[in-house]
Parts: sequence; structure tokens; C-alpha cells
Amino acid sequence: MAVAKQDYYQVLGVDRSATQVELKAAYRKLAVKFHPDHNQDDAEAEEQFKRVAEAYAVLGDSEKRRRYDAFGHAAFGGAGEGSGGAGGADLGGLGDILEGFLDDVFRRRSARRAPKDLRYNLELDFEQAALGTETCIEYERHEICGHCKGERADPSATTPECGACRGRGEVRYQRGFFVASRACSSCDGSGVRSEARCTRCSGSGSQPARQSLEVKIPAGVEDGAVRSVRGAGEQTPYGSGDLHVHIAVKPHPIFNREGSDILCEVPVSFPQAALGDEVDVPTLGGKVSMRLPAGTQSGKVFRLRGKGLPVFGGAGKGDQFVTVVVEVPQKLTARQRELLQELAATMDTSHHHPKTHGFLDKLKHLFD
Ligand SMILES: [Zn+2]
Ligand SMILES: [Zn+2]
Repeated sequence: MAVAKQDYYQVLGVDRSATQVELKAAYRKLAVKFHPDHNQDDAEAEEQFKRVAEAYAVLGDSEKRRRYDAFGHAAFGGAGEGSGGAGGADLGGLGDILEGFLDDVFRRRSARRAPKDLRYNLELDFEQAALGTETCIEYERHEICGHCKGERADPSATTPECGACRGRGEVRYQRGFFVASRACSSCDGSGVRSEARCTRCSGSGSQPARQSLEVKIPAGVEDGAVRSVRGAGEQTPYGSGDLHVHIAVKPHPIFNREGSDILCEVPVSFPQAALGDEVDVPTLGGKVSMRLPAGTQSGKVFRLRGKGLPVFGGAGKGDQFVTVVVEVPQKLTARQRELLQELAATMDTSHHHPKTHGFLDKLKHLFD
């Protein structure tokens, strides 16, 4: 299908008299607009991106531009469908040029300019995680240099591009059948002449900056959860990475957590357990009174409905499970000892002690 190729200057939307700087600016704008990363599954945009890249691959190189000005598309193998039969020592047809160029675009993007994600470790109190919170975090990230807009070259420089690599930041050389590339030593891979480097960022295109950010933590977030904030990572001319906030929840002196349920232990005395009592139990919402029935065994678990955490990503609340632990006094007064001995004398161990009863039974079978 022989479709007339669009003029490269038209593709980039510039005059034939445009300077290299103007060409680059026009290309940059269109390349960002049609970049596959910003137009996923958009075939039209991809086609546009290739057209723009092709036009700049030619016009952005002064030697190729001269040839194009003189011979038009014919300078690169006629209709421009691949390299055709040209081959040989010549720099090759358009296919080769474009391939090398796109390769450059993607490699440079991925190696040097790809937006980097950042990680932030956020420690929360048990209550903050349980009930949700809003917190301001501060961190350092690289932002595009405001002086050179990420171009690395000082805006006042007239010919910023490194002559040795023509601004590519790398030079290519033949190695057997393959073309290899290495960082340009004249410009340290920046593509900008050292005298023309941006004075503010020393030619790096970015500067570290302090960033503060409000982060909303939803109620019920768990230890190890990650909240990502889009665009809050490192900035590059091609976009910004994300910030991943890794959440660690500090242990609580009383509460443990299992999903949306809260677990805790409450110590009670032997008389409390035997006679029954009302005991104070701490919950996230404050103290509540819990009725301990007479004859409560150590290890018995009570459920306080709805006293847990909001169910994360769902409706309702979890429960609080209270394990009663009967505590034996470590010291007794003379009077207490007397009373306990008196009590012991009245106690028939086999009755109303379900565990003891079963234990004695088993013991009997063991030695019979
Ligand atoms: Zn700068
Ligand atoms: Zn260079």
C-alpha cells in the first residue's frame, strides 16, 4: 500500500527553518503526548509515536537532516518501508535508523529516566491502625530542576548538545556483527556539553527536594499493609514514580489482633472466679464491665460482640475475645493461709471439680 509519507517537518509541526533546539522541544512534547506508557492499547497513538520518533530521528541529526532537505524521503530508501536493498557501509535505510532510535528512546527511559518508585516506612500505634488516622509524612525525592526543566542544559546555552555523541549520551561502535554502545566519555553520558550544563542542577536534570504529604490510613489497616500514592515518587521528565507507604503496627501492651477481632487476657483471683464478679475489661472504646459467672475456669474465653475493629474493606465490626486467667497469689498473710487451710479441709476434691474428677478417673485406669 503506497501511501504518500507525511513531511517530517509537518509531523513535528515546525518550520523548515526550525533550530535544533526548537525541533527537540517539539519532538519532546509530541513524544510525551503519544508515548505508549501514557496511551496503553491505543494503536493510533502508537502509530503517531512512531511517526514522531521517525521524523525526529532524521531531523534531529544534522547530517540526516541535510540529506532529507536535499532528497526528501528518497534519501532513506524511497518509500521508507524498511531499509530495502541499500545496506552495506552506508548508515542504512530508515528501518535501521528508526530501530536504533526507538531502542535509544526506550533504553534511555528505562535506564536513566524511568520514574522510580519510592518506599516509606510508616510506624503506627495499635489504636491508629485500628481506628484509622490521617498523618503527614515527610520525605526526600528528586524533582525536575526548575531552571532547565529537566533538559540538563542551561537555558542560556546556545549549542548545548555534546558534539561527540550528538546529544545521545552514548556512542556506538561496531563489534563484530553487532553494534554496541557505551556512555559518552566527553559528556559523562548526559548528552550535554560540560560548559553548557545547567548551573543549578549541575546537569543532572533533577534536584532533591523535601516533600510533605497527607496520608489517609483507613480504619482496620493491618501490619505489613502497603498504601501506594500515585505520582509521589521520583520525578522525571517522563512522569513520576509512585510512593509506597509500608505500614508497621506497633504491638499493644494488652491487645493482640486477629483480623478484625481483638484478643486479650484478663487476670482474676480465685475467689472472683469461684464466686463470680463484675470485672473491668479494657476495649478500644474504653473500659467496659464484664460479668464473670460463679465457677469460671481459668482459660475460659468470653466474647464481647462488636468490640473489635471495623472489618477492613467490609461492613460491621469484629469482636473482642477475653481470656480469663485465674491467678494464684504468690504470698499469703498468716490469716489468709489459715482461711485457705480451713477451706481446703472442707473441699471434697472429686466433686464440682470437673477437671480433677476426670484426671483421677484416668489415673485409676492407668494403674489398675
Ligand atoms: Zn537544571
Ligand atoms: Zn556526549
